[in-house]
Amino acid sequence: MIDETLTMIPGPTPVHRRILESLAAPTVSHLAPEFVAAYRGALDGFRRLGRTSDGQPVIIAGGGTLSMEMALVNLVRPGDKVLVVSQGYFGDRYAELAEAFGCETRVLRSEWGRAVAPEEVEKALSGGSFRAVTMTHVDTSTGTEAPVEDYCSLLEDRDELAILDGVCATGGIDERVEDWGVDALVTAPQKAIGAPPGVAMCLFSRRALERRRELGRIAAYYADLLRWLPVMEDPSRYYSTPCVNEIFAVAAALDIVHREGLDVRFARHRRLAAALRAGLAALGFTSFTAADRLAPTLSVQLYPDGIEDGAFRTALASRGVVVAGGLGPAAGRAFRLGHMGNIGAAEVVATLEAIGAALSDLGAEQETGVALTAAAAVLGEVG
Ligand code: PMP
Repeated sequence: MIDETLTMIPGPTPVHRRILESLAAPTVSHLAPEFVAAYRGALDGFRRLGRTSDGQPVIIAGGGTLSMEMALVNLVRPGDKVLVVSQGYFGDRYAELAEAFGCETRVLRSEWGRAVAPEEVEKALSGGSFRAVTMTHVDTSTGTEAPVEDYCSLLEDRDELAILDGVCATGGIDERVEDWGVDALVTAPQKAIGAPPGVAMCLFSRRALERRRELGRIAAYYADLLRWLPVMEDPSRYYSTPCVNEIFAVAAALDIVHREGLDVRFARHRRLAAALRAGLAALGFTSFTAADRLAPTLSVQLYPDGIEDGAFRTALASRGVVVAGGLGPAAGRAFRLGHMGNIGAAEVVATLEAIGAALSDLGAEQETGVALTAAAAVLGEVG
């Protein structure tokens, strides 16, 4: 029996003890050499996570939405055309942001649980040009991984800037910023990176930096990339007091990411996702998300007949596991299970055991044992 609540929502995710300890350390000066070194390490770790040698990382106090805003406000002017490729709630958020900044938006929306076909993006691009195209790697509302590499390849040799929301992917799914031609990867640490929430993280391409310079004065101060640039190049400089402990935590989280190794980490995410899904299928759950678009970072699972959403999540919480409710068309019909960051097989087993027990509490007849066997078969696979 687990002795603490296991937070299996799609972010924030469980935080490793080493990372928690960095948060509890005394808050030092933002100019202290150990802090400057940690900030530098976090920036470098983020750049390597995006697999770019010359990309410009930015990490500042904030959150995923600030990252999204920062990319937009530094790369796009009011009145510019922006193509938004959306497969759910967070894709739509990019449309709202672009509208808030006075952009002319064209939104390509998929049905929830599916992704926009690259052919649709191609068609939109053949009909005109845009300043930027926004895309969501994994939409946390639907559990859908979009074919972002395909979208990006359509932008090769074109002027549109590729803005990729990696909030629910970075650290759990490969994101080859340089090879794919991503101009701004916008993300946050509280999901697959495994640190607590509290910072905005953006990785800009050289082309994006040039475009920012071409814009001159923009209607932003805290979110102005050019004002932060001196700090990102030399973290001993001051612009606005950094969140010292949170940066230590992000540095520790990125150190864990690189110690594990990117390829190993991404394979672990795929393996744990498959194990959980095998276990849930054995318990009678079915996937809300289309089978060919399942994200390695979270699952949206439809309830077996007779299981009521509120009662299930309450029973599960009393068994020590917290999951999230469905959104949009999945509301009341499905729950959302995060499986990213620094979790392992122990969390998979604990989650399936608790879900099996919660179903029994509600009078269902499913056997937890079959779920554990199904999951174990996947966990035991080599590779
Ligand atoms: N994009 C995606 C895909 C997300 O899942 C989230 C948060 N759940 C955000 C953006 C916004 O991040 P934040 O809540 O940190 O502002």
